[in-house]
Amino acid sequence: MTVPRAHLSDEEAQRLLEGLFDEGEAASCATHAAECPECAELVESYRALSRRLEAMPLPDLPAGFTAAVLRAVGERERALSRERSSAALVSLGAAGALLLALVLGGNGAWVPHAARMAQELAALAGALRLGADLVPALFALRLPVAVLSALFALPLLLALFRLMASPRTESS
Ligand SMILES: [Zn+2]
Repeated sequence: MTVPRAHLSDEEAQRLLEGLFDEGEAASCATHAAECPECAELVESYRALSRRLEAMPLPDLPAGFTAAVLRAVGERERALSRERSSAALVSLGAAGALLLALVLGGNGAWVPHAARMAQELAALAGALRLGADLVPALFALRLPVAVLSALFALPLLLALFRLMASPRTESS
């Protein structure tokens, strides 16, 4: 007399094979598999697969593989850290140029100068994926509009700077 039991799932078949069940479950699954050709075949197919996988030769890792991976990770970390510092400097520079343009706005000669500076900074910011559209767009506008925009842009740039600044590089 056997307890009726649902067919084994793939997971149950694998667990049975790997001995991952507790005794009660294992016995119930094993009994079912012994009496059900369908499930017996399922378990057998996993056994064959497992045997074939075990027989496969593991490829040898090239010499120095671990060291190379660790080195690459370290380099990437350093590059990211450098990028963050540069982005912070560029943000600060752009904010400074903007401020300069505002302060010296009355003197027309300074405006193109600051605008060119900001454009160069913006190009750099673009390379650093900072959102290059912002700064040149501001300086393409005439000064009164730029003043209004700057009122919004300055806090934004400062917030950006604060976001970009690595907390550990700040020391006072
Ligand atoms: Zn079955």
